[in-house]
Amino acid sequence: MIPFQPILNSLKSYEAGKPIELVVREFGIDPHQVIKLGSNENPFGCAQPVVEAVQKAASTMSYYPDDSYLDLKTALGERFGVTPDRIIPGNGSDQVLDFACRCVLGPGDPILINRITFAMYKIYALQCGAKVHSTETVPHDLNAFLDLTKSVRPKIIFLCTPSNPVGDALDKSDVYEFLRRIPQDTLVVIDAAYMEFGNKKDPNKFIPAKEVTDLFPNVFYTGTFSKVYGLGGMRIGYGIGNKELISNLYKMRPPFSVANLSALAATTALQNESHVESYLENNLNEMKRYESFAQEEQIEFMNSYANFITLFARKNGKTSTEIAQSLLRQGIILRDLKSYELGALRITIGRPDQNDRVLDALRREFA
Ligand SMILES: *Cc1c(COP(=O)(O)O)cnc(C)c1O
Repeated sequence: MIPFQPILNSLKSYEAGKPIELVVREFGIDPHQVIKLGSNENPFGCAQPVVEAVQKAASTMSYYPDDSYLDLKTALGERFGVTPDRIIPGNGSDQVLDFACRCVLGPGDPILINRITFAMYKIYALQCGAKVHSTETVPHDLNAFLDLTKSVRPKIIFLCTPSNPVGDALDKSDVYEFLRRIPQDTLVVIDAAYMEFGNKKDPNKFIPAKEVTDLFPNVFYTGTFSKVYGLGGMRIGYGIGNKELISNLYKMRPPFSVANLSALAATTALQNESHVESYLENNLNEMKRYESFAQEEQIEFMNSYANFITLFARKNGKTSTEIAQSLLRQGIILRDLKSYELGALRITIGRPDQNDRVLDALRREFA
């Protein structure tokens, strides 16, 4: 027997969103007919110049990347108004979240997360042997975070705003008030994977990376190219913090952790903001169609500041799993939030043509 670490008994592998390939394999549906709205990707894809830049540079894949990632960090630095030494790129923002856990957590160390939140915080913390504490409400409640901070003394607090998988978001002023009351030696991770969407819907939800990390050196701000920039398949994200934090995170980093074509794609994406802007516009407008649908059908939902909406299945109707499975057979991939025990479905807001089909299918399920 291989002497596996006892920690592994308490760990589960992450359940990723379903891929198009699965629908093709299981139901024989033409991949072009599949609607993939289960993983919060940009339904318009990335900007065309990004595709062209990657195509043109394709043969550079034989070389290792520029491990300084200076082009990317300079572009991100300009975007956020910070110097490159305050940025760490990662193989998805997932990777920088993992670095943060491994830099701070040892066996038995407490962390604090929201009851309903991105599943990886817990998984990375458990991998370090940490003890996970969580609040009790579905949306973030900063008073509960504050109380629990006093009693459990977490080494890391994770705030996801706007939050996956329900879409609630915190006001900047409330977050700053909270940060003023948190011990300086508690690392607060602000996962801003959906910040662009939150800002579009309500600028009060916008937390500027430079300002928050200047004011609060114990904040680590993370972002991703997987969502609004349409680069999920390239696996690239970043973290922003003070220099000391970033240089420590760097010690956890494997060499060349971001592929060169991914870094190029991200750098190019930052130069094509109009694509992002029209996507944000679409997201806001199409979200309203789902909200109207839910209101008409009296389906419970939460106001979402992200690029998805979470609908709660009716207690006396079909379960979220039955609905998700039925839509899957029709070639529509949504996210069943079964593992969160909410009886809810998370639907990424798609293109108008996709939403037509999804809303028709949902209407039949909830009828
Ligand atoms: C998608 C997502 C991420 C990370 O995505 P990467 O693809 O690893 O960059 C992080 N946090 C939240 C809340 C997400 O939804």
